[in-house]
Amino acid sequence: KGDRADIDREVQSVCPFCGVGCQVSLKVKADKVVYVDGVDGPANEGRLCVKGRFGFDYIHHPHRLTRPLIRRDDAPAKGLNVDPGNFSEVFREANWDEAMERAAGGLARLRDEAGGRAVAGFGSAKCTNEEAYLFQKLIRQGFGHNNVDHCTRLCHASSVAALMENVGSGAVTATFNEIEHADVAIMIGCNPIENHPVAATYFKQFAKRGGKLIVMDPRGVGLRRFASHMLQFRPGADVSLLNAIMHVIVEEGLYDSQYIHRFTENWEAEKEHLKTFTPEAVSGICGIEPQEIREVARIFAGAKAGMIFWGMGVSQHIHGTDNSRCLISLALMTGNVGKPGAGLHPLRGQNNVQGASDAGLIPMFLPDYQSVTDDGVRSAFNEIWGAGGYDDAQKGLTVTEIMDAVHAGDIRGMYILGENPAMSDPDVEHAREALARLEHLVVQDIFLTETANYADVILPASAFYEKSGTVTNTNRQVQMGRPAVTPPGEAREDWAITVELAQRLGLDWDYASPADVFAEMKQGMKSLNNISWERLNSEGAVTYPSLSPEDPGQAIVFGDGFPRAEGRAKFTPASVIPPDEAPDANYPMILTTGRQLEHWHTGSMTRRSKVLDTVEPEANCSLHPATLQRLGVEPGGYVRLTTRRGSVTVMARADRAVAEDMVFLPFAYVEAAANVLTNPALDPYGKIPEFKFAAVRVEKAESL
Ligand code: SF4
Repeated sequence: KGDRADIDREVQSVCPFCGVGCQVSLKVKADKVVYVDGVDGPANEGRLCVKGRFGFDYIHHPHRLTRPLIRRDDAPAKGLNVDPGNFSEVFREANWDEAMERAAGGLARLRDEAGGRAVAGFGSAKCTNEEAYLFQKLIRQGFGHNNVDHCTRLCHASSVAALMENVGSGAVTATFNEIEHADVAIMIGCNPIENHPVAATYFKQFAKRGGKLIVMDPRGVGLRRFASHMLQFRPGADVSLLNAIMHVIVEEGLYDSQYIHRFTENWEAEKEHLKTFTPEAVSGICGIEPQEIREVARIFAGAKAGMIFWGMGVSQHIHGTDNSRCLISLALMTGNVGKPGAGLHPLRGQNNVQGASDAGLIPMFLPDYQSVTDDGVRSAFNEIWGAGGYDDAQKGLTVTEIMDAVHAGDIRGMYILGENPAMSDPDVEHAREALARLEHLVVQDIFLTETANYADVILPASAFYEKSGTVTNTNRQVQMGRPAVTPPGEAREDWAITVELAQRLGLDWDYASPADVFAEMKQGMKSLNNISWERLNSEGAVTYPSLSPEDPGQAIVFGDGFPRAEGRAKFTPASVIPPDEAPDANYPMILTTGRQLEHWHTGSMTRRSKVLDTVEPEANCSLHPATLQRLGVEPGGYVRLTTRRGSVTVMARADRAVAEDMVFLPFAYVEAAANVLTNPALDPYGKIPEFKFAAVRVEKAESL
């Protein structure tokens, strides 16, 4: 950390990593960020975690793309074979005009030859709201369909499906900071100390001042040290356990009759459904003692105010939507929505996954979750957008469905902005083969990612600290990101690249700045009422909904009813669906995947950050010490993990928090890519893959 006198300027922006949305002050010298401090944003009050404080230097890494690249005519066959520091045998540098002509020309040729559906797009939850909005508009208006998606499909799509179905809104009902007013909080399938570290500081404070923290997870996540109850249930048994908790609440008459009567529907069906889920019947399935299930039920139902937080341990299952339905039902039956200290809060992953979804970067909804199947909605957007070819009443294909359509030959070209499906998709070899099959792939990114390995044209983009734009965090707080340094070489801001591409595709787009885009978004998004670019610039953050130009926004929503018919939320009973793959003699253990504190998602940023990569330089997995002993592997030795889809060799760590029949593998490391192993089976509602459960064989390996 430098001396204040040593810097040229300070710029206030937002951390580009997780959905907490910490505000940062970037200290700049000679057009380089030299250090970062936390500032008093609504979500972080000056706090930062290791990624926010030290993980900024990837933006100055020598691997940054500085000029557009075009695949050479004599390049080897497409594959994961490009060195990001030495790519001249595969790609040649080009000027922007040639690269844009090649990028747009290839997409337009496919559109003209085979129709718009021959081209699909993946946008990014790492870009701004304005960029997400432009991206979905380009695919819809430029190609006439809804085959556009982004990584929300891989994280909270099932949570959003359940929330939309039962609450009428896909966002949180209360900010995480509301835990300050709660008596009890359930944390299920989440690991905030590693994945939402600054939010975790509020959760720890809550427990330290006497709040009851009930942690439920198949892994003994870090917050267990602060928990009044730690329910380490068997993987995949979430619905059974949650139904048993609700069974007790019904059986003992602990539910909130007044609330249920006033604000909900389908209660009788829920009650009936829960009858068979006695703690005694469920205990053997989930591995939790009946008495503990009863105790947790009584504590949650007996509290004045309770919150429920969940993460991808809930959502990334083929029963992910059912998991969320249970959590919604639990909150509704205890009246824990719409009042201080109460609410439903799926902890969003990426810094702007909430905002990108709000902006319509999803195949079933236009901005503000307005259905693509609604004729009135489509014509309203056509009116805002002006002339264009968009009138598709069919829900589009999702991330993994698009890859299947590439294999089927239906999709032949793609535009991918800031996503890395060659690392992030389940059964990733399937995705890599799809990328290799594409006749024309345009990738826009800041690094030559694994996905860019397969590109025909690569457009060099801006890192978050190099551009203007808004992002929306897990709390529904819309915040202003500001440029601190200039993009390297000829790299450009993403919104400007997308606009030029659209113009070259024949669209009549005319935006001078992200502020122009935001102004257009407001025309079709009521959620942005009373939130202006000027306000965001001066206040830094406004929570939606904001009820007046002076209102900082509503931390808690739905106190007087829900955005559903008659203002009522709905109970949707959830039955037990077992995981798609059961362990057997060949694959006797359970693989679960996730993140770790120092590395972010596919590692393209954090593995290029000096501090973060120094702390956590090598691919690793976690196994219980007893499992390591059984395998004859010392901590720090190597294991081979094999599933029905592939095999990786990785260094093993001892971790008592992992059950003896499980292995935890982070997905940030290309050299031991977790998604070579994962199961692509999908939740039928949210279309989210089952990243959290695959049958696996673990064997001792001598070395890499
Ligand atoms: Fe950034 Fe999230 Fe850490 Fe905050 S908690 S500093 S937003 S990574």
